[in-house]
Formats: sequence, C-alpha cells, structure tokens
Amino acid sequence: MWRADATCTRPDTSQGPAATVNITRDQLAQAVRALCADFGHDYWQRADEARAYPHEFVDALTDAGYLACLIPQEFGGLGLGVREACVILEEINRSGANSAACHAQMYTMGTLLRHGSEELKARYLPSIAAGDLCLQAFAVTEPDAGSDTTRIRTFAERKGDSYVVTGQKVFISRVRQSDLMILLARTTPIDEVEKRTAGLSVFIVDLREAGDSVRVNPIDTMINHESCEVFFDGLEVPAANRIGEEGRGFRYIMSGMNAERILLASESIGDGLYFVDRASDYASARKVFDREIGTNQGVQFPIADAYMDVRAAAAIRDEAAREYDGGEVRGEGPNMAKYLASRAAWKAANVAMDTFGGWGMATEYGVERKFREARLYLVAPVANNLVLSHVATHVLGMPRSF
Ligand SMILES: Cc1cc2nc3c(=O)[nH]c(=O)nc-3n(C[C@H](O)[C@H](O)[C@H](O)COP(=O)(O)OP(=O)(O)OC[C@H]3O[C@@H](n4cnc5c(N)ncnc54)[C@H](O)[C@@H]3O)c2cc1C
Repeated sequence: MWRADATCTRPDTSQGPAATVNITRDQLAQAVRALCADFGHDYWQRADEARAYPHEFVDALTDAGYLACLIPQEFGGLGLGVREACVILEEINRSGANSAACHAQMYTMGTLLRHGSEELKARYLPSIAAGDLCLQAFAVTEPDAGSDTTRIRTFAERKGDSYVVTGQKVFISRVRQSDLMILLARTTPIDEVEKRTAGLSVFIVDLREAGDSVRVNPIDTMINHESCEVFFDGLEVPAANRIGEEGRGFRYIMSGMNAERILLASESIGDGLYFVDRASDYASARKVFDREIGTNQGVQFPIADAYMDVRAAAAIRDEAAREYDGGEVRGEGPNMAKYLASRAAWKAANVAMDTFGGWGMATEYGVERKFREARLYLVAPVANNLVLSHVATHVLGMPRSF
C-alpha cells in the first residue's frame, strides 16, 4: 500500500532520528511509525476514557525532535519543511494515535518563523526546540465572531511599552498544557479601519507571566481534545512580543493558518489510511456465510473507493505543501487539501464502521474513537462551507455572499 517516499529537500546533520543526511520521507515515516508502536490502542483508549492529556506520547515526540521539526537548525530544531511535518502527522494518525495533542507546535511556526522578529525567535525558539517551553495554543476563535475572524472583539490596547488585552476566546486547545500562546486581537476598532481585515495584530503570550489576568475553563467535547474557553482581563503583553507590524496580523495569522490547513489535512489523510487499513484487514479476516466478508463487492468496493479519495486528497496536500515550502502564500492549495482530506477521512470512517458491523461501535476495536476524532476536521480549523466559499470566490472569481 502507498506510503510517502520522496526525499526530504532539507537534509539535516543535527542529532535525532529524523536528522540524518538525505533521509527520505519514507525513512522519516518509518521512524515515526516505530515511535508510535510504543503507544498502541490501549494507551489511546485509556486516555480517551479518562479525558487525559497524552503527556507520555507528547514527551516522546518532543525527545525525538519531531515537534521541533520546522524550527531552523540555528535555533536547535530539525530545520525540515512542512512536507516533512506532514509525513510526521500523517504517520501518527495512521497508527491510530491522535496528533491533535501536539500539532500546534508545528503549525504556529508558520506565523512565528515568517513574521516574528529575530529577537522573538532567538528568545523562544531554542527553548521550544529543547522541549523546555511548550507552544501549543493558538487563540483565534471567539464565541460571537465564529468563522468571521475579522469580527473578533478581544482588544489589545497599547499602553507605553505594553499592550493590555481584554476579551474572550473559545475552543482554545491545549492552553492548559502550554507555556506560550499565539494570540490574535484587535488593536484598532473595526469601525475605524478601511478594510475589516486591517487593525488586527498577533502576539506571542507568555502564559507563565499571566497570573490572574487569564482564566481558563475546559469545554467538554465528544473527543479527548483539551479545548477551553479563555478569558483575558487586563493581560499585559510586552510590545516586543507582537509578531510583525501592528494592524497587519490578519495576513500573518492567515499564513500560519495555511500551514495549519496543510498539516491538519495530513492528519485526516492519516485517519483515512487508518480506516482503510483497519477495514481491509477486518474484511479479509471476518467470515460470515462461510466466506470472508471482503469477498463481497458490496464490502470491498466502498473500501477501495475510500482509499482512492484519500490518495487524491494526499496529492493535493503534497502540492500545497510543496508550494508552502517554496514561500507561496496563496490559500487555494491549503484550503482544498483540508477540505478534500477531511471529507475523504470521514467517508473512510463511515466505510470502516460499516465494515466492522456492530463491532465498529465497540470501544475495544478503536474504530469508534477514531470515528469521533475524524469528525472534527469537517468543521475545524475552518468549516468546510468556508472553504467552498473561498474556492468559489477567490479561486473561481464568483461574487461574494459575505
Ligand atoms: C475540538 C475543537 C478544537 C478547536 N481548537 C481551536 C484552537 O485551538 N484555536 C482556535 O482559535 N479555534 C479552535 N477551534 C474552533 C474552530 O476553528 C471553529 O469551531 C471553526 O472555525 C468554526 O467556527 P464556529 O464553531 O464558531 O462555527 P460558526 O462560524 O458559527 O459556523 C457554524 C456553521 O455555519 C456554517 N457557516 C457559517 N457562516 C457561513 C457562511 N457564510 N456560508 C455558509 N456556511 C456558513 C459553518 O460552515 C458551520 O457549519 C476548535 C474547535 C473545536 C470543535
């Protein structure tokens, strides 16, 4: 069966399993697969039931250097590209694990590396790469704004050398596990800007210094995701922690979001392959009416169909990742990859549930947990309707509906 196998474009000579000169993506995938083998179904099932953060798994990924794969070597990271990060996340999810526990340390790099000052990068990146600081929180979504990011109300008011932040975010994942958080806030009220995408700024917030000015409440969801609502009440952020210029944050956050969409598409592709692997194995082994259920075309065709959808999504994802690594800032590829991969994974999830019959519902098989997890990506990090709107208006040039 297909697996990533191209050669990495950025050979690396530092330490760590992924850091061999001329490592191929296939070798990288094998190394990640070997790490994931130590965290099997029972581990993830227990974490899911206890709604526990998988610290041991995240520590293992950190120790292996994978969570610092996008951090340049000069700051202690592996210096790889988004294409290699895709391989890592895809393999994690294909193994039955869940990258959602740790993916933000990769996708936040799109904002910080491309737009952060040299001083900010030198201050934080070496400690993140060493595993001493955790940057796993990305705070954009707000209860009233929803998908319309320009309508966020969290406000950062400049006072001398600092900004004072007031407002609320929702669904901010892993904030309780993070030392640092990337925050999008308004710095100019929306009624004072010419374009509603203007007047937004991005900050890196050191949560260790936040004290009572940041309050966090967990939100219970159908998956083990560590998502929270976050309240800011006079949070002071040094002006030096602003990423890029004041008021241009929407553009910076979008370039981070493009990386996020490509990376999360890879998780969906991993999920899709997990479901295809599990369904084809089960269909080849399970006997009913004296023959393997997989001999029935009614069972095998949907699995083959789902597999081809996942492969097609992976091709678009690869194209988008190649463009991103080449410095491209267009949203077309990342959005399409996210949309196609999330739908392919969801289709494969349903095919796997059908193939397992009643046993698909039994927690002991793991398929129902992955089924719940795969559902998230139809709506996050961007709802698929918004992707359709982007392609319709930005790519095909049709009139905007909003
Ligand atoms: C488990 C989880 C983790 C998350 N983690 C994070 C995180 O770490 N950081 C963060 O910032 N956010 C996070 N999110 C938030 C996520 O990005 C949002 O839920 C998502 O962007 C959709 O926003 P919303 O939920 O407000 O939906 P809404 O914007 O209210 O949309 C609701 C529905 O209406 C549809 N819709 C809205 N407007 C239109 C339109 N104009 N045309 C057609 N359809 C439309 C949407 O497609 C959607 O189906 C997370 C969400 C979840 C569930």
